[in-house]
Amino acid sequence: MHEKMNLLRELQEVDQELVLIVTERTRYEEELQEIGEEREKIQQMADELSTQLEALKKEESQFQQELLAEKDQIEKVEGRLPEIQTQKEYVAVLKEIDMAKKASIETQTKIAEKDKAISELQADFDEKQTKLAAITEKSDARKAEVNKIFAASEKTCKARRATRDSLAKDLPNSLLSKYQRIFSRRGGLAVARVVEGACLGCNMQLPPQQYNRLQRGTELQSCPHCNRLLYIEQA
Ligand SMILES: [Zn+2]
Repeated sequence: MHEKMNLLRELQEVDQELVLIVTERTRYEEELQEIGEEREKIQQMADELSTQLEALKKEESQFQQELLAEKDQIEKVEGRLPEIQTQKEYVAVLKEIDMAKKASIETQTKIAEKDKAISELQADFDEKQTKLAAITEKSDARKAEVNKIFAASEKTCKARRATRDSLAKDLPNSLLSKYQRIFSRRGGLAVARVVEGACLGCNMQLPPQQYNRLQRGTELQSCPHCNRLLYIEQA
């Protein structure tokens, strides 16, 4: 029985190491995912700004067109001045020129407002682009580091799995599956040491008769409280 317990203890050590490696990998994957999500968020903001910028630029260019048309209109009306015959006509034309100039000033104000909005958005967009470049660099560098770590841990995993297989080969299937069931249900501890009659898996005291049987070492003992497979350190 000692021999089987020793195999199980070795197996547990390897399994615990494998669990640690998997946990560590998951942590790295989550870290990379977080960086990717942050990058995606900034990218989305930059895309939105870019769309807004385009719309503003389009509006601004429409106002520029209007301004040109208004300038033409002013010139056209002013061109009529030399041909004017009557005072009444003269007043009417001057009024028309005045209105056209007012409209032109209004359009210029609108253009100035758009230009201001465009330059503000542009600054915001440039800032996002800078951030995006920085986070992309950071993310690429971290990815390269993590890939190296993964390659190394993959090697370790392979070696440990080989060890695991060779240990498992020498254990009866029923015992192996019992061990695996407890290992996954009991937080990666299926084989527990007993010290002074207490199971160190759950810290509960074993019945004295069972403790005696465990000391005799003739049959496999499970903790009556946590079901873990028990061993005592041989003096
Ligand atoms: Zn126990």
